[in-house]
Amino acid sequence: MKISLLGIPWDENSSHLRGAAAAPAAIRRALNVPSSNLSCENGLEFSALDLRDGGDLPATLSGQAMFEEIEQAVGAELDQQRRVISLGGDHAITYPILRAYARRYPDLSILHIDAHSDLYDNFEGNRLSHASPFARIMEEGLVKRLVQVGIRTMTGHLREQVERFGVEVFEMRDWRDDQHLDFDSPVYLSVDLDGLDPAFAPGVSHPEPGGLSTRQALSLIQQSNGTIVGADIVEYNPSLDPTGITGMVAAKLLKEIAARMSDA
Ligand code: MN
Ligand code: MN
Repeated sequence: MKISLLGIPWDENSSHLRGAAAAPAAIRRALNVPSSNLSCENGLEFSALDLRDGGDLPATLSGQAMFEEIEQAVGAELDQQRRVISLGGDHAITYPILRAYARRYPDLSILHIDAHSDLYDNFEGNRLSHASPFARIMEEGLVKRLVQVGIRTMTGHLREQVERFGVEVFEMRDWRDDQHLDFDSPVYLSVDLDGLDPAFAPGVSHPEPGGLSTRQALSLIQQSNGTIVGADIVEYNPSLDPTGITGMVAAKLLKEIAARMSDA
């Protein structure tokens, strides 16, 4: 299956700290450091996959215009029968990406890994905040199912939103490694790096202790069933990652997601 890699260096809708805009370049650097190689765990070579790096979207626009740019760019890749892996950027980018996907995949399910449910109706008045993409996605009925894993920051408002939209939440405190996630429709995978524990991935703007290990996140990617037709890796903040380990985690997830997508 053909895959396109798309950098979206845009963090305008971050509520706390900027910095995720620098992530796409940092993840590409981490992917190519000589301390590791490009082998995927299932035996495929990342460099041998049918993957085209489309570079970064020029993030010269802002507000609604940039949302439309993202939707259009992702849609153009999908129209060439390619699957898209997007490198954020903050989590706000997932809403326009899903608008593009929903038009081509009418029965999509989302597997969303995050410390946060990102279901705020608005955050500090911003309905396009990185804390709100899944509220917009569910309001517009863009997907059949939203399944969240790693959540550990629930509030009363967010629980109401979960009820309202019928979101399937696996809170981190209830997570079991033998939990099997069953999908009977194409899957879009959205990975917010703060879903991982900050011990594994400290370079994020909203570190939240008590999260997934790198291996638990990899197992989710490798073992959940359903065909993964698109993915994003968001919220990596290289300015908070002095050792570069979070970049290495992002690059590892990228390799394994691409391998999984190529497999089916
Ligand atoms: Mn998060
Ligand atoms: Mn998020």
